Amino acid sequence: MRRLYLIMATLFLFLVVAIIGYSTNFSSVSILTDSNIEEEKQNNGQEEDSGYDSSKEEETQDQNEIEDTRDIEERSESEEQSEKEQTDKIQDEHPSLPDGSFTIGSQGEGVSDLQGALRQIGYDVPDDGVYQTETAKAIYHFQQAHDELGNDGLYGPNTRSMLEERLASGEKMETENFLKLELPNQDPGNQFPPRGELVKDPDDILVLVNKENHLPAGYTPFDLMEPDVPFPFDEDLPQKLMRAEAAEALELLFEATEKEGLHLFAQSGYRSYNRQREIFTWNANERGEEQANQYSARAGESEHQTGLAMDVTTHEVNFRLTTDFADTAEGQWIAENAANYGFIIRYPKGKEHITGYQYEPWHLRYVGKEVAKEIMENNLTLEEYLEDH
Ligand SMILES: [Zn+2]
Repeated sequence: MRRLYLIMATLFLFLVVAIIGYSTNFSSVSILTDSNIEEEKQNNGQEEDSGYDSSKEEETQDQNEIEDTRDIEERSESEEQSEKEQTDKIQDEHPSLPDGSFTIGSQGEGVSDLQGALRQIGYDVPDDGVYQTETAKAIYHFQQAHDELGNDGLYGPNTRSMLEERLASGEKMETENFLKLELPNQDPGNQFPPRGELVKDPDDILVLVNKENHLPAGYTPFDLMEPDVPFPFDEDLPQKLMRAEAAEALELLFEATEKEGLHLFAQSGYRSYNRQREIFTWNANERGEEQANQYSARAGESEHQTGLAMDVTTHEVNFRLTTDFADTAEGQWIAENAANYGFIIRYPKGKEHITGYQYEPWHLRYVGKEVAKEIMENNLTLEEYLEDH
């Protein structure tokens, strides 16, 4: 009996000490209670947080434990805060560089960060989040100043680490002439590389792609999707794809033709740079470069790479892409109504000297309703329209 009293008294004492410990946050007491909990766990062979009797003493211990945890959390939060402040300070000194690789046409926050870094070391590049000619030229210029870097004008891990060193040193680059640099060939080994200018914004709905303006080799539209329209084949091929906005507009156009009892088919939409390169090389070897270029585009110069073009056809011409399409009911409807859905006939008759291509009544290009109506009503080409706007 006495022994029991003694134990009770000891427990009571512990309780009092624990309460004092709780209110004063006295660390030695905390340690004591912590070790008690440990003991208790060991004695009962129980796992954490399970099987405790809810006696007052243990509730206090629990509270104490919670309080301790909170202390640790507060401590680590404040540690994190000061660490973050330090990192912010470093980032203020030089912006963080993105991982990964960028090619012309890449875009997003990473490109924005890179542009911030380039500006920091003296390159006057736009801050638009698009890896465009200016940004590529800045990278190319920077690479030329560092023997250990490849000279391709593209951003990757090696260029990143050299840039990082430069940023850390706080030294600026001599950048006066960087915009005058000619970017290196992005498509080595191509027998028939694109000529003319690189387009400024490949994602622009009004992007002009022709024999004078070409898309970057690495460019793939970011929002390709398959329009829900009939194709004369079943395979899942990239040529079924279009940019989202164009694909939705094409669905509406097809719905309208179906209501008229017409049978239109989509034949060929998106085509990658590399696929176009294969096609043109084949055509050029077959017919000669110049003749091939009357109807076939060099890689980078094809509108099909924009994801905004679709060749359409019908069974009456055996699903071929031929000028006879213009004489079919489907072809006539297209000529009269495509603009109401945002599409133009991109290569009209009599404008070959402007577009550089022969008449193609089947090749639809999405430009949006407003522009399409202005172009079609005034018998213009996209080239003529853009010259006046
Ligand atoms: Zn076409």
